Amino acid sequence: MKNKKYLNWTLNQNYNQFRKENKMKRTITIEDNLQEIVDSTIEEVKDLLIEFCNKNEPDDCPDINDLDESGRVHEIIDSSVPIYCGEIRDLWYLYKDDFEEAYEDAGIGDNPLDNDGMAAIYFYIESKVYAWYDEESKDIFTNWDEENFKRCEECDERIRENEERTILDGLTPLYYCDECYRDLTNE
Ligand SMILES: [Zn+2]
Repeated sequence: MKNKKYLNWTLNQNYNQFRKENKMKRTITIEDNLQEIVDSTIEEVKDLLIEFCNKNEPDDCPDINDLDESGRVHEIIDSSVPIYCGEIRDLWYLYKDDFEEAYEDAGIGDNPLDNDGMAAIYFYIESKVYAWYDEESKDIFTNWDEENFKRCEECDERIRENEERTILDGLTPLYYCDECYRDLTNE
């Protein structure tokens, strides 16, 4: 009699344990949109590079710091950092090590959870954007250059349009080479 009681108790305990474990097992979904965030930030910096080239017509590919003179690169990255606690928490859950490393590399402080973890995410995105810029900006610049300027066949310099030429001033060439000043109006 005593044994049976004990057996029942044990079975009950096991059953309760079983229920408890099964109840504890939950599946949660974490949305991983970090790559998407990085990609769209890069797109914006790419647009900024082209905008800068159109405005300043540089001879060589500008440094990313040239683009950031007005603080635009900083602004673009800053506005791409998630602001909702849930999103930040999820990304931290998935990318803790990467964020900590980015924060450490930035050498800005010793608490990676600074600013609710947003600072580390900022530096992470920044590092991805800078790495992309190192890799891709020269090609983008070259494409922009080829699309916007013809080159002198003699010296491979840009052909300029003489913006000061007027109808009355028929003698100065409309197009000329920046280097040898060859008149290229009719070419
Ligand atoms: Zn020339």
